[in-house]
Amino acid sequence: MVDMDKLTSLCKRRGFVYPSSEIYGGMNGSWDYGPMGVELKRNVKEQWWRNMVQNRQNVVGLDSAIIMHPEVWKTSGHVESFHDPMVDCKECKKRYRADHLDEMICPECGGELTEPKQFNLMFKTHVGAVEDSASVAYLRPETAQGIFVQYVNVLNDSRQKIPFGIAQIGKAFRNEVNPRNYIFRSREFEQMELEFFCHPSEADEWYEFWKKERREWYTYIGIRDDHLRVREHTEDELAHYANACVDIEYNFPFGWNELEGVANRQDFDLSQHQKFSGKKLEYFDDQTKESYIPYVIEPSAGVDRTVLVTLCDAYEEQDDPKRTVMHFSPRTAPIEVGVFPLMKKPVLADKAIEIEKVLRPHFRTFYDQVGSIGRRYRRQDECGTPCCLTVDYETIEKDDCVTLRDRDTLSQNRVPVDNIVSEVRKFLDSLCDKRE
Ligand code: ATP
Repeated sequence: MVDMDKLTSLCKRRGFVYPSSEIYGGMNGSWDYGPMGVELKRNVKEQWWRNMVQNRQNVVGLDSAIIMHPEVWKTSGHVESFHDPMVDCKECKKRYRADHLDEMICPECGGELTEPKQFNLMFKTHVGAVEDSASVAYLRPETAQGIFVQYVNVLNDSRQKIPFGIAQIGKAFRNEVNPRNYIFRSREFEQMELEFFCHPSEADEWYEFWKKERREWYTYIGIRDDHLRVREHTEDELAHYANACVDIEYNFPFGWNELEGVANRQDFDLSQHQKFSGKKLEYFDDQTKESYIPYVIEPSAGVDRTVLVTLCDAYEEQDDPKRTVMHFSPRTAPIEVGVFPLMKKPVLADKAIEIEKVLRPHFRTFYDQVGSIGRRYRRQDECGTPCCLTVDYETIEKDDCVTLRDRDTLSQNRVPVDNIVSEVRKFLDSLCDKRE
């Protein structure tokens, strides 16, 4: 099992994740993604978008506002019931979520706890110059409502018919009582959500379909299937809007935890919005002449949790040779190929720079000429770069080939420079195949 302290230290050292506002002592529940992290996160989102939107005729995208009409959150039930039960320790004043505690004594000092109080998770703000009750607005706690309120516009403009889906990736905000476990639970995070609209009689089938699709996607981006499980919600866990829900869970170093929820939200949201906006949100099927409010199947995933899973699943410490290596799939690796001259000699460096230029339009590349070659390889191992190419004197004097070093097996093979794009492509593809 991965040690979280070691993982977070690697993430900081290699520029994956930094504590937010670190020079001011950090900000609990907020994290920044560094140069490696931002690439990893972009790749996760890119893979999701490709799978969920580009690869499907019946899904289209949306990018809705973070600050919406406050009525949206009343209608959705968030103002009324998006609460966590919170308790305080009377001794040490620490605050906990009551439903996260095994016993009702303070885990920190054993002190007595207060009765649970309900704590709304939405961040409140004021819009405009006047701070009064009429100007109250919220930062969205989920991206889903942005989709529901634009459902009719998208339906009319995109030439879609039911069944079809609307996908969105974007920031969401929750004033979590206890942000913890690194980027697993933060106050500002990103979601990748699909709302899939279907006929009520087909909802069960689509629910099964999306559960399967979503689990498979995680293995496609390189997560080991035996580290995943699908857990059905019990009756008392179900949210007020859902009649069925599963969590896709990952075996994190801190235990099995939710990575994504797939829920059958029925017609709850659209019916509510129809009722309170006064706008018709029914669907008219011109074949059957039936009017109805569609049911919605929602796979809702966290970008940051997927990044954390990708990091945990990739991490390995090896003894012989001693190194730490991140086994990212080429589909998510921040850098796909590193290019080095064996030494910092102009004749070698010029050739390596030239090769990197050829590769750059095709791959995420990185050029490095500083330090011993062994140290440069180890740095790339920690960044999870699947292959590195090294230019040496033989390249120049003899064979016009470079050494391709395989991150996982450490094997080194000579490959021709004049075919370098297809050689690298072949290598990365074979690595993806091997992992599937
Ligand atoms: P939890 O029970 O862990 O608080 P949830 O059931 O409230 O999560 P959902 O409302 O289903 O979560 O949100 C969908 C997804 O958004 C989650 O599966 C998770 O990946 C992500 N997510 C939710 N809250 C957070 C958070 N505070 N930090 C990071 N990701 C989050």
